[in-house]
Amino acid sequence: MNKAKRVLVVGSGIGGATAACALAKAGLETHCIDVQPARSTVGSGICLLHNTMRALSEIGLAEPCLDSGLRFEVFKQHDAAGNLLMSNPTPPGIGIRRPELARILETAASEAGAKLERGLSATSVTDRGDRVEVVFSDGREAAYDLVVAADGAYSKLRELFFGSEHRVWFAGQSAWRFNAPRPPEVNGFCLYRSPDGKRTVGALPTSREACYLFFLENSAQHMHWPDDQLDVLVRERLDGFSAPVIQDALAQVTTPGQVLVRPFDITLVPAPWHRGRIVLVGDAAHSPTPQMTSGGGMAIEDAVVLAQCAQAHPEVEEALLAYAARRFERVSTVWNASLQLCKYEQDPVPNPQRSAALMLQTYQYLGQPM
Ligand SMILES: Cc1cc2nc3c(=O)[nH]c(=O)nc-3n(C[C@H](O)[C@H](O)[C@H](O)COP(=O)(O)OP(=O)(O)OC[C@H]3O[C@@H](n4cnc5c(N)ncnc54)[C@H](O)[C@@H]3O)c2cc1C
Repeated sequence: MNKAKRVLVVGSGIGGATAACALAKAGLETHCIDVQPARSTVGSGICLLHNTMRALSEIGLAEPCLDSGLRFEVFKQHDAAGNLLMSNPTPPGIGIRRPELARILETAASEAGAKLERGLSATSVTDRGDRVEVVFSDGREAAYDLVVAADGAYSKLRELFFGSEHRVWFAGQSAWRFNAPRPPEVNGFCLYRSPDGKRTVGALPTSREACYLFFLENSAQHMHWPDDQLDVLVRERLDGFSAPVIQDALAQVTTPGQVLVRPFDITLVPAPWHRGRIVLVGDAAHSPTPQMTSGGGMAIEDAVVLAQCAQAHPEVEEALLAYAARRFERVSTVWNASLQLCKYEQDPVPNPQRSAALMLQTYQYLGQPM
């Protein structure tokens, strides 16, 4: 297989947009498509840990994220009334609004020379061995040396090239999220636990002015809630949390559209992450539970490492083998820690100290080079 020169990135989410940027910067002719006609301008926040910021700095993107988000280096645990129980230093990360991160990544990809097209998908992808032939939803056709499947947890390309055995499965929790103005005490990763330890609310800064709150709900199966009642339902779930941070944030929730609910649908595809000239990046390869706040971070690291491998290796096959060899152990360590934390939260008698210890230990692990 010859060296990759022309690349198609399918999906312009966190992993795809970063891959488009990193691959274009590495000198590849890069085309990136996304099925959504426009980038979302709504959305909650995301935490980018120290390792994610390091990966972003390798492609010159740490600074714009820092400018837009808020840096923090503390993990705090509180009771439901807001009394501080424990405070631990963490390696520095940032919180940022998701639409802001998306804007930064896509702008950087375009500036690096990637061609970005939205409202477009691939209707047929055929690996001919020496090239991949793609037919787009608007009828155009093109050929590439490499196709990067960055189409998320429910990836169609993964289904097509890796089969259905890697489909996502439900990890027993869903997250309720909403944005709020940031009180000064939300200056890091903050958790609030109910007296029985069975319900947890979190708050994370996304800028100097804003933060977002989340609540994790356990259920044996996927739950479906009426979209037009999410504001009422989130209040019911946070009943008994009298912490002013939570009460003041809830007071700002006046419409159901302000609340997002998302089930934790997860998968971890074993290495290697390619079939022929199709390679998986981000959630398409490894959708985790969010406890380690690392799914986006791992997608960003994937993208940076893939571009490094594509540049370093003369053959596509070699580059893709090197990519998975560098990524799999690291990703699976974080993925497993996240799932363990999710399971701990579903224990009949939760143990917050044990969870905090695993979290802090995994933060340290992430400090190792990617
Ligand atoms: C509640 C929650 C909280 C989280 N918090 C954090 C956090 O704090 N920090 C963190 O690092 N991670 C966090 N994550 C994880 C993070 O959001 C994901 O891991 C990350 O978004 C994965 O990026 P991705 O680009 O792989 O996939 P996505 O972000 O899902 O992007 C996939 C893109 O592909 C496009 N697409 C899909 N199908 C097609 C198609 N057929 N053709 C073209 N385009 C297509 C979609 O439109 C989308 O833009 C959290 C996740 C959840 C659920």
